[in-house]
Amino acid sequence: MLELDGLTVTYGDLTAVDDVSFTVAEGEFCCLLGPSGSGKSTVLRAVSGFETPAAGRIRLDGADVTERPPNERDCSMVFQDWALFPYRSVRENVEFGLKMDGVPATERDARTDEMLELVEMAGYGDSRPAQLSGGQKQRVALARSLALDPDLLLLDEPLSNLDRRLRETMQLELKRIHDRVGTTMLYVTHDQDEAFTLGERLGVMNDGRLVQLDAPETVYDDPTDRFVESFLGTTN
Ligand code: ATP
Ligand code: MG
Repeated sequence: MLELDGLTVTYGDLTAVDDVSFTVAEGEFCCLLGPSGSGKSTVLRAVSGFETPAAGRIRLDGADVTERPPNERDCSMVFQDWALFPYRSVRENVEFGLKMDGVPATERDARTDEMLELVEMAGYGDSRPAQLSGGQKQRVALARSLALDPDLLLLDEPLSNLDRRLRETMQLELKRIHDRVGTTMLYVTHDQDEAFTLGERLGVMNDGRLVQLDAPETVYDDPTDRFVESFLGTTN
């Protein structure tokens, strides 16, 4: 479970994230939606520890992790550009984190097989990232993040580089993986359809603030303010 309490992140005079508080329950798929520059990525970077908050607390499974470095937080981030190691095979990419964690070779192999199977990339262990399609690279990046069995998976517009067909396929895939593994997900997108398809709850950000966080139907039927109403009415 993730709890944010008054999270505030500033860059000089700019308040990128402004007093944001919310909770993501164990196993929940929560989407953050909002216009460009509204602070979505900054929230994820603060949660993963790549950004130091000016104020507020971050708790993971009850433990205050606000001061902990990224590698001491039980969460994993999938970036928009996937950031696979280009000169390593698919297998080496997936097992990288396990190796860093000192997981013994036999266990590592088994876990890597299991993850490649989960994302339906079992035949591709020896391929290099350059030989894969966008969606396949994305699945390898997911497998790499899931291999470490994080309590929380943070995804920052992971599908935005894909064409529509592949994006829809990957959305279903993500749902399937979530149903099967049950990892808690915090998923950033500015694609409304995607947020409504994937999110069990949906947070809308504007200007660094979280303006509404509710079930998608509620956000849609009963927006709390004009911003949410006009944002849902006009984008995409
Ligand atoms: P997008 O949908 O375009 O990815 P976003 O909602 O993810 O937008 P953020 O990247 O969180 O927005 O940025 C929030 C605000 O903080 C923006 O005004 C941005 O210009 C600013 N910002 C983000 N990173 C930095 C940085 N490293 N230094 C200075 N300002 C930053
Ligand atoms: Mg962003």
